[in-house]
Amino acid sequence: MNNYEAPPGLLADRVILVTGAGDGIGRAAAKALAAHGATVVLAGRTLAKLEKVYDEIEANGDPQPALVPVDFSIAGPEEYRQLADTIESEFGHLDGILHNAGMLGDITPLEMYDPDTWDTVMKVNLRAPLLLTQALLPLLKQSPDASIVFTTSSVGRRARAFWGAYAVSKCGIEGLSRMLADELMNTSNIRVNCINPGATRTTMRASAYPGEDPASVKQPDDIMPLYLYLMGPDSLGVTGQSLDAQ
Ligand code: NDP
Repeated sequence: MNNYEAPPGLLADRVILVTGAGDGIGRAAAKALAAHGATVVLAGRTLAKLEKVYDEIEANGDPQPALVPVDFSIAGPEEYRQLADTIESEFGHLDGILHNAGMLGDITPLEMYDPDTWDTVMKVNLRAPLLLTQALLPLLKQSPDASIVFTTSSVGRRARAFWGAYAVSKCGIEGLSRMLADELMNTSNIRVNCINPGATRTTMRASAYPGEDPASVKQPDDIMPLYLYLMGPDSLGVTGQSLDAQ
């Protein structure tokens, strides 16, 4: 589906939450989803970055987005419940979540991995997607065809030395995504899938691979076809998959 050509208006009338929408892949996804007609709820940590994306979407003439500052390393069930209430009162429905926010943590041997860093990475990369999904499922269940997309990584499929909590959290996301897909398959209209973005030119990529020439990897905009496909009605019936964006 990496050659998918999304028709204009693909996501008209859909409300989609994007986490980590202020930078990197999340920023590109928020803009691409809005450009195809979605009303995007921009969630992320740094307000100034979210505001910039908000302005870019507005300047493009796309549906007015909403903005939700949230720090996934400290938020708990109550914050996620409030977020669900806000979406319900503002829009009345929710048709998709792109769980994209993530942090790298340390690249270091497990033998010396810092426990506090471990906990923070697990909270942002694994606990937050679960709690956010729990809070938003009642809304998603009301949508005629909702889509949940989690973000994995090559180390979430096969953990490699030194990738620490990041790799373990992404292995967890693969499991969470499959389990949720299974649980919802026969009881809802919600499809659940994972995207592995592959090497993509972002701040996270640069810190993981400091010796790499950034020009040698794809830009976030280049990998958007799969995101659009999974969020739109053309992927109806596709669930429990872990797909590569390149
Ligand atoms: P970036 O570092 O560019 O962006 C990460 C986003 O997550 C930022 O918007 C950041 O917000 C947000 N974020 C981080 N921590 C928190 C937090 N505590 N609370 C709220 N938001 C937070 O990374 P990428 O765009 O590269 O990564 C996006 C996703 O893709 C991640 O899940 C990553 O693991 C995955 N991925 C990326 C690959 C790549 O090559 N780039 C390859 C494989 C997977 P802020 O800017 O405010 O810090």
